[in-house]
Amino acid sequence: MSNTFQISPGVQQRMGRVQPLLIDGEWREAQGGATTDVYGPSCGSVISKAASASDADTELAVAAARRSFDSGVWTGMTPAARAKILWKVADLLEAYSAEIAELEMLDAGKFYSSAKEGEVPFAAECFRYYAGWCTKIEGTTKQISTVPGQDFHVYTQREAVGVAALIVPWNGPLVQAAWKIAPALAAGCSCILKPAAETPLSTVRLGEILIEAGVPAGVFNLLLGDGPGVGQALAAHPDVDKISFTGSTQVGKRIVNAAQGNLKKVSLELGGKSPIVIFDDANIEEAIVGAAQAIFSNAGQVCVAGSRLYVQASVYEQVVTGIADIAKQMRVGASTDPEHNMGPLISEKHLNAVSKMIDQGVAEGGVIVTGGGRLELGGGYFVEPTVFSDVNHSMSIVKDEVFGPVLVAMPFTESDDIVALANDSEYGLAASVWTQDIGKAHKTAAAIRAGLLWINCHGIPDMAVPFGGYKQSGWGRENGYEALLQYTELKSVVAKL
Ligand code: NAP
Ligand code: MG
Repeated sequence: MSNTFQISPGVQQRMGRVQPLLIDGEWREAQGGATTDVYGPSCGSVISKAASASDADTELAVAAARRSFDSGVWTGMTPAARAKILWKVADLLEAYSAEIAELEMLDAGKFYSSAKEGEVPFAAECFRYYAGWCTKIEGTTKQISTVPGQDFHVYTQREAVGVAALIVPWNGPLVQAAWKIAPALAAGCSCILKPAAETPLSTVRLGEILIEAGVPAGVFNLLLGDGPGVGQALAAHPDVDKISFTGSTQVGKRIVNAAQGNLKKVSLELGGKSPIVIFDDANIEEAIVGAAQAIFSNAGQVCVAGSRLYVQASVYEQVVTGIADIAKQMRVGASTDPEHNMGPLISEKHLNAVSKMIDQGVAEGGVIVTGGGRLELGGGYFVEPTVFSDVNHSMSIVKDEVFGPVLVAMPFTESDDIVALANDSEYGLAASVWTQDIGKAHKTAAAIRAGLLWINCHGIPDMAVPFGGYKQSGWGRENGYEALLQYTELKSVVAKL
């Protein structure tokens, strides 16, 4: 079977050069010339090289963002003018969607069709959504009660928080970047983006689009490099006013520590171990398909993946067998071949980590219903879609985030407190509840301590719907008006008349 994708000449050429940094409107190499290799997860070989920013580059990028913010070149622009530029970004993303989808396929292991029809339009929609908010950032008026007999005019206003550093992971490089850049720019911030070292390609293209759309020099800067170097320096930098981070809970805690120096504002979208609760009165066929998609999409490398499955005992066998059958039929392989429907893990390091967690699950007594093995396919990083049974809440495979296509299934009965089981996690990102009893659905949704609850579906995102977690799944929300507010400060003005 060789249905392998023909890479376009433009993308070939793009991958043949060193992926550059964008500082103050100029594309450049790292000072000192350091580079890192960029691997393709489907082939396991080097597909490009990326500049690796030095401390001096980080200083320049922060200084450029600071200058552009203080100059008012962006915040001083009318909201309608900013909106037009963000809308243009969306148009350009769509115009270049074929090329961007290719980059996302080669670098991040996405399937071309899902990148072209899913990720790229979704990123475009994000810029349009926040283009709309530019002209609607408002304050309120207030009444003073403490000083009788005097007249006051009192109002609040929202102002851009300043220089925002945006750090994103590799599992959705384009969309995760859009989710931060669009609200930051809409609010009037100047920003510095650091993508994951594994996936710089689509963000470089996005940087070009931002410049082409008219974002002024210094308002958007791109630093490539690793987290412990560039990311840590941004999180600690005294001239950065805000840090928005998406990634692991472990690194999120490091960000919080690093941000202490100047008490910069912090928002965090972190990990999850999200429960799926299937009651016996659910539409079982739909629930089986929904649960399988919730864990196997993007090979489980999704923060809201439904990775803990609780099924009412009377339908447990039917549901677990149904999900296992779907897993067995999945065609795992290179995302460059449209015959496949589950692609690679992002890196050899991540493949090793996922394999180790599966082994640990077996060692602790979990039983593999299907999957569990690595697949040697053309050098890429592949693991079988995996379902565990006979697990309990003391096992690491039930407690820890795997970030791979690994599901743990547990039955529950009327005598179990299903809400307590669902809530027995240090995470609280997402959950889904499957039942045709509308009262049970909403009561269970209300009782689960998580930021995103789905009823009879899982993983549906939308720009209008706030996205983020309770507990150790993070601080703050992405998407919606709520995300925009996190790039603003609130000022109260009290005027005695
Ligand atoms: P990660 O190690 O936390 O990395 C995420 C980003 O942080 C990368 O750009 C990374 O850079 C950078 N980084 C690493 N160490 C850093 C440090 N000390 N200071 C500043 N930045 C640092 O996460 P990952 O393992 O790559 O990604 C998977 C995790 O992300 C999962 O836990 C998943 O749940 C979470 N995630 C959450 C959401 C959400 O919205 N809630 C969405 C997607 C993913 P380098 O990789 O270049 O070193
Ligand atoms: Mg890559």
